[in-house]
Amino acid sequence: MDGEAKAGRHQVVVIGSGFGGLFATKALKNADVDVTVIGRTGHHLFQPLLYQVATGILSEGEIAPSTREVLARQRNARVLLGEVTDIDLAARTLTSKVLGRATVTPYDSLIVAAGSGQSYFGNDEFAEFAPGMKSIDDALELRGRIFGAFELAELGASRGEDVDALLTFVVVGAGPTGVEMAGQIAELARRTLKRDFDAINTRHARVVLIDAAGQVLPPFGAELGAKTKVQLERKLGVEVLLGAMVTDVTERGLVVQYKDGRTDWIAAGTKIWAAGVQASSLTKTLSEQTGAPVDRAGRIRVNPDLTLPGYPEVFVVGDMIDLDHLPGVAQVAIQGGKYAAKEIERRLAGKPPQKPFHYFDKGDLATISRFQAVARIGKLRLTGFVAWWLWLGVHLVYLTGFKNRFTALGHWAVSFIGRGRSERTATEQQIFGRQALTRLEGGAAGLVSNVDGLAGPDPAIAARRRAELEEHALAEIRLTDSGERGQPGR
Ligand SMILES: Cc1cc2nc3c(=O)[nH]c(=O)nc-3n(C[C@H](O)[C@H](O)[C@H](O)COP(=O)(O)OP(=O)(O)OC[C@H]3O[C@@H](n4cnc5c(N)ncnc54)[C@H](O)[C@@H]3O)c2cc1C
Repeated sequence: MDGEAKAGRHQVVVIGSGFGGLFATKALKNADVDVTVIGRTGHHLFQPLLYQVATGILSEGEIAPSTREVLARQRNARVLLGEVTDIDLAARTLTSKVLGRATVTPYDSLIVAAGSGQSYFGNDEFAEFAPGMKSIDDALELRGRIFGAFELAELGASRGEDVDALLTFVVVGAGPTGVEMAGQIAELARRTLKRDFDAINTRHARVVLIDAAGQVLPPFGAELGAKTKVQLERKLGVEVLLGAMVTDVTERGLVVQYKDGRTDWIAAGTKIWAAGVQASSLTKTLSEQTGAPVDRAGRIRVNPDLTLPGYPEVFVVGDMIDLDHLPGVAQVAIQGGKYAAKEIERRLAGKPPQKPFHYFDKGDLATISRFQAVARIGKLRLTGFVAWWLWLGVHLVYLTGFKNRFTALGHWAVSFIGRGRSERTATEQQIFGRQALTRLEGGAAGLVSNVDGLAGPDPAIAARRRAELEEHALAEIRLTDSGERGQPGR
């Protein structure tokens, strides 16, 4: 255990090790409480840079440090792996599961920061052919698909086949993630890979950005949206299709429908879904127990102090909340997490409650390509090189851990000053592993015969195997020491 529990101390449980969960936990560093962070993954994920893992700029470790390592010096915090499947508000307990095994954890105060997942707007079957961008698994699968498409195109072209579809990359959703992804794939094709292939000209790859809305980057306002569109089209050769709704996705491409009812088929090997989010399904159980309504994106209505009606000891923060039209951005989660932590500390000290949660909007940033970004800070609108430097500074500050900042800076230099990508490695498992797991009954748990790891193999088989291994090792030593290895006729 990495934390030091004191008997009888107030128990705070935090669900999720994302922005809300991690910042809430850190804010409780000096409080007289024990904090247990329960996370579905063992890492803290910096989602805004997932697209750089998918396009080979950064490694997954740089944007997803181990939560345990990040909190190692916080003596009152411990970290538990587990997917929370149930919360019992009356009993003040929650149930989490790993590989089918359940753990029940009691709490005195609870901070729920389980974030959101991808939404396919009721068309979950699209996910098989158009992965989203919410996790490390997503980013690595996309990396495999993107670099794999160029490889398959090279093979096809050498056989004289038509490879246009393989060299077509479609990104659905023109919010910041979609814009950044489309921009990076275009740079990859036009700049990074342009000299790496023989049978194909990667510069001719088609990159299409689609959105049902009428402009790109709606949260940045009309002016920056229009400038970004021009930049994508003129400088990067991205086709931007607006007012176009995706109505079907298959292995070979997708169908878009325009406002006038016209439909279009785009043959594309690689499809990426960057449209729509759905809050963690934990809001459902919280809503059922409190009566707090849940909106269409699955977010739960919270009190102005981020607590649930009738349960002042339960805070919900970040992407899961429906409050004052707050956006689903990192700062809402960070500030919410800190607010909840402070409130818990004040209560324990017998201090009066804080004022209602107030979000301080620090602005929005998105990159379009190397050295080009857009920024909205209050009334200020920035574009180009200046905005890009701002993007660089902000991401360096918020990236967790000095080591990660240092190595990310190195990788950015390789990719933006040079034209390389340090993280192009992609394996077959990255591309097909997840689909294989979904076909197994019980998922990964179905692969683990003995979760407890208590019973060993049959003792007779183990003894025979040990004798074989020892004999093999002795033969290896004899071959090396006698100099027989590699001698003809021996
Ligand atoms: C690709 C992408 C790009 C983005 N770019 C930006 C950007 O540029 N700027 C910006 O401000 N915001 C950006 N965002 C949004 C931002 O990342 C989120 O708003 C923020 O992460 C929300 O924080 P959170 O704590 O609510 O959730 P998260 O950070 O998503 O954390 C949720 C945590 O809960 C865990 N979890 C989920 N369910 C369970 C469960 N049942 N049991 C246990 N643990 C669970 C998850 O594993 C995760 O650790 C981006 C998001 C994405 C996906």
